[in-house]
Amino acid sequence: MPGLVMWGGFRKGDIVAVQGRRGEWELMSHTPAPGVWRIEAARPKDRAPAEARTVELRALADAPQVRRGDLVVQNFPEQVLAGTVGHVYRLGRWVAEAAHTGADGHTWGLVDDVERLVVVTHEQLDAAVQLDVEAGAHRGRIIQAVVTRHAGKFRVTCRCSPTIDLCRAGRATAWCSSVEAAWSLWDWHTTGEVGPAPADFASPETTA
Ligand SMILES: [Zn+2]
Repeated sequence: MPGLVMWGGFRKGDIVAVQGRRGEWELMSHTPAPGVWRIEAARPKDRAPAEARTVELRALADAPQVRRGDLVVQNFPEQVLAGTVGHVYRLGRWVAEAAHTGADGHTWGLVDDVERLVVVTHEQLDAAVQLDVEAGAHRGRIIQAVVTRHAGKFRVTCRCSPTIDLCRAGRATAWCSSVEAAWSLWDWHTTGEVGPAPADFASPETTA
């Protein structure tokens, strides 16, 4: 796997200082010459392609943890859209441009603080449950969180709920520990929310 080869502790996508050059630089790729990198200035435009030798590179104390090509989601449990990281640069703090593609195929770019992004895999995203559900006039979804402390748990939404999310009591989202518990909550909702919401004993912490 040539893409993972490290030279002198550095790897493709790292942002570093380069001896004798101003500013911060992204390691774009190896050149055919051993130990020589193709680099670009770490900024959104005018990226000034150049080359640098591994011995000239200096790690940054606060280097961003997100690299070009990473698949990322924003770190909140409702997030189901992932993007692919492009340029990473300082805008006060480290930010990353990420390209997103919607279900309908249209694409857009977002710039996010890297602290708000979590690197995920296609497998993680593909494994997350996302179901469209309907019953009578109710239209909703059962969605499994990919990141945050709710990762792996399920929330249930319905268009008729004031907060979109279904709740067991109060206005806090009811996080379900299993897809079965999510279906029970959905059924309770669509049959008129008669009596207390179905308990989810496997998940004592059901509110956020
Ligand atoms: Zn509803």
